[in-house]
Amino acid sequence: MTCAQMGGPCTAEVVGATKEEMMANGMAHMDAAHPEMAADIKAMPHDDPKMIAWNEKFNADWETTPEN
Ligand SMILES: [Zn+2]
Repeated sequence: MTCAQMGGPCTAEVVGATKEEMMANGMAHMDAAHPEMAADIKAMPHDDPKMIAWNEKFNADWETTPEN
């Protein structure tokens, strides 16, 4: 998946063997490349509607992006 697919502003490739790994690697990329965005995400409560919508999109993209 790309950073953009995960809601980020660039097209860097983020890879992970599992959904959890992908999410962790995406977050690591955010920390490294977009620290302000990473801070915003970390400050957001997990039951925030935006966070729930993000999770649904992430799960859908994960299912439709087979090779990485
Ligand atoms: Zn990025």
